[in-house]
Amino acid sequence: MMDYYLEFVFPEKQIRYIAVTEGEDTEKGLSDFVPFRNLFNEFMAKDTSRKVKAALHAKFAAGERTFSIAPLGYMRHPEKHNKLAVDPDTAWIIEKIFDLAAHGTGAGKFTKILIQERVPTAGYINYKKCGQFAKFYENAPAEKAYAWNIRAVSDILKDETYIGNSVHGKQTNVSYKNKKSVRKPESEWFRVENTHEAIISKDVFDQVQKQIESRRKPMKSGKTQVFAGLVMCGDCGWSMSYAERKYKTCSTGFFNCSQFRKLGKVGGRCSAHYNRYDTLYAYVLAKLQDWIYQAHTDEKQLLSRLLKSSDKEAAKSHKKQSAELAKAEKRKVEVDRLFTKMYEDWTSGGITEYNFKMLSQKYQTEQQELVEKIDRLKTELATEKQTAADAEKWIALIKQYSEPTELTAEMLNTLIEKIVVHEAVKDSDGTRTQEIEIFSRFVGKID
Ligand SMILES: [Zn+2]
Repeated sequence: MMDYYLEFVFPEKQIRYIAVTEGEDTEKGLSDFVPFRNLFNEFMAKDTSRKVKAALHAKFAAGERTFSIAPLGYMRHPEKHNKLAVDPDTAWIIEKIFDLAAHGTGAGKFTKILIQERVPTAGYINYKKCGQFAKFYENAPAEKAYAWNIRAVSDILKDETYIGNSVHGKQTNVSYKNKKSVRKPESEWFRVENTHEAIISKDVFDQVQKQIESRRKPMKSGKTQVFAGLVMCGDCGWSMSYAERKYKTCSTGFFNCSQFRKLGKVGGRCSAHYNRYDTLYAYVLAKLQDWIYQAHTDEKQLLSRLLKSSDKEAAKSHKKQSAELAKAEKRKVEVDRLFTKMYEDWTSGGITEYNFKMLSQKYQTEQQELVEKIDRLKTELATEKQTAADAEKWIALIKQYSEPTELTAEMLNTLIEKIVVHEAVKDSDGTRTQEIEIFSRFVGKID
């Protein structure tokens, strides 16, 4: 990146660049060493990022956690800095919440119970203990201390910390340069069991998880929000959360990216992805009606349609992988060339032995990584996906239904894997276009 500025942007804009410690001055002409040093800096940044990750990983594996404030119910272990210990003053709140949930009380209802019984919130307890978020609680009305909300309660109910586990790496940065965070699939989470004393037994926890899964949130209008757990944000991969907005006598249900809702624009994690419930409902219903009709009238046609779109998906990922492979192969050639050049520089005394050793190690690491990447991509590209059987399986499922006039959670969960909502784009004439992708179970995206 720096090369680009030094060699193109600065000369073009007639900017003089002086780096005193490095003895560089663009007016006198740059030394041959500049691009080299920039490359080195890049390596350093990447390497540091990798080292930090590796160090964290080792800590996690040893059962340590990194945290600034212990989760509610816990406190920092009095002797071991990165460990949790049960906090005798607050553990009862966690026990109470799980107890209510295990007895079938919904999050919405027992949020009210917590408020009525004046159970202090995590935020308030932290304020009392260490003065955190003082501006929220100082001079605030007393109710602020037990202002529970559904979000806080359901976060607690899903947190494996309470059965003694530590789960790391739920999200990651795109790369060491791009700090945008993206959600990782659950299979890639790093879970370490029994890192600290549990507050809740695993039986109770599992029971509560089952209840959460089966519960479909009733809407204010009394209907059921059928999409629970199925709608995902097309950019960050987190779920979309449902809410209702009331205007006069009519209330409108809509979805927003949950990361956006949690942190807002200021958090910078994601954008709104606003999508109306009734629009999504009508769209998905129409699609399903179409597929179900075709499954009954012309199964063959539907099968070839499914195979065609899964072919298209495969072609798309094939293209992406091929491009990645070409890039990795090109970079490998370049690294080989740089390595040779560095070797020549070293033999002619252009760089010090110290730098040579440092750099050659970096190059070798990168070469090794590239070789592995190239191998992996080649194997992936060679594997043909078997899809016809999957498509038939899905058609058998969809044929159970006929002429549906409404969506049910049961039907959606049987047929659909996920619904991905992309951010809307506004055309110059003000038309709002929003891409929605429906991924069926077994088959994937269907056109
Ligand atoms: Zn998002």
